[in-house]
Amino acid sequence: MASPSLDRARLAELVDGEREKYRAAHPLSLRAASGAAHLLAGVPMTWMAKWAGGFPLQLAGARGATVTDVDGYSYADFCLGDTGAMAGHSPPATMEAVRRRLMEDGGVTAMLPSSDAELAGAELARRFGLPSWSFSLSATDANRWAIRIARQVTRRPKILVFNWCYHGSVDETVAGLEDGRVVAREGNVGAPVDPAITTRVVEFNDVEALERELAAGDVAAVLAEPALTNIGIVLPDPGFHSALRSLTRTAGTLLIIDETHTISAGPCGATRAFALEPDVVTLGKAIAGGIPVGAFGLSAELAGLLLSDTEADLVDVGGIGGTLAGNVLSTAATRATLCEVLTDEAFTSMISLAERYEAGAVSCLARAGLPWSVTRLGARAEFRYTAPAPRTGSESAAADDPLLDEWFHLFLANRDVLLTPFHNMALMCPATTTAQVDALVEVFTAAVDALPYS
Ligand code: PMP
Repeated sequence: MASPSLDRARLAELVDGEREKYRAAHPLSLRAASGAAHLLAGVPMTWMAKWAGGFPLQLAGARGATVTDVDGYSYADFCLGDTGAMAGHSPPATMEAVRRRLMEDGGVTAMLPSSDAELAGAELARRFGLPSWSFSLSATDANRWAIRIARQVTRRPKILVFNWCYHGSVDETVAGLEDGRVVAREGNVGAPVDPAITTRVVEFNDVEALERELAAGDVAAVLAEPALTNIGIVLPDPGFHSALRSLTRTAGTLLIIDETHTISAGPCGATRAFALEPDVVTLGKAIAGGIPVGAFGLSAELAGLLLSDTEADLVDVGGIGGTLAGNVLSTAATRATLCEVLTDEAFTSMISLAERYEAGAVSCLARAGLPWSVTRLGARAEFRYTAPAPRTGSESAAADDPLLDEWFHLFLANRDVLLTPFHNMALMCPATTTAQVDALVEVFTAAVDALPYS
């Protein structure tokens, strides 16, 4: 229960009303969803069927911070492709770089490098302080390959992750803790092996457990988001990251920092914002303006160890690489997005808009007397049905409330505002306007005010 005085039966009725309203307002989206006979679950990717409302909006188009559906509605988009569109939808500089590569130069995939790759690598190196970069097509693959490199170089079998983490569909990371034991995460589809064989798991911010698990001496790498962002936002305690770094160094364990979401912290991600010193940074989603890309950067020392390892076959069959990885479209889009769209000035505006939303949401909750929290990480903010803000993934997971989630997502969508599905996250992009943020605060406040208290 989110609050003892919440009338949950009445809330369920209100959610039904919003569902009906959503269905009635979107006949063309509904028809598209029910008519897609040749798509598994009626959608191009199964999770798309899981948006609140029972069927997803069918996309007509998207520009900047606005999404339009086939029924003619336009939405202030704070989902932004769950960070894939953090640079805004179709940012002109990225689209121009892509157009030039496609239409003027020609060729997308030739298994040959192009000049954009080095320029993109140089910009990533400047931002994240690591000199040697490689490209994949997704953050998932960047994480997979970073893990393989860590195993290869350390000759150790395991990785350590934090409970309730998400790093993409990476087998080793779909693991959790149950009564202190490592188990497959609930719903884990066709797990290849018992994750206890590959993975150690501890709670975020639990330095004692981290020290204990690393002491086993079998952990190749800790794979960590600087702040958890996939179970609400869970920020690090003061001193947590310095303990993590010094414990990993002592244990001979590499530190992989996954900045896929936490790049919202600033132009140089949480790596700069929190003064981190990772051995590897992994990224994806946002950095190519919506074009598929992933990237990982290695420290000079690690790159040297890997390249001089005569047992490591650094082609696809060795477990690292993919035919389309590093293609000219991805690298052109990455170069343009980093150098021309996700600039320092863009972040200044995105962060100030997120602060504006945070302030509005916090004051709404205070006025309503709800014991909830709002946590912000640079340009993203998320509300959670508990206060104070959780310190671990488990604390945050315990505050999950699917009915309240559905209420907020549907109430907002029915009033032309999109939040990120499976999160309550609102993310700002360079094109987000103050008016859109004010609209978000207004409909969020209306949704809170309409909650039934007995
Ligand atoms: N790392 C983190 C922290 C993520 O949140 C995600 C996806 N939400 C990924 C990696 C995987 O990204 P992708 O699905 O684009 O491979």
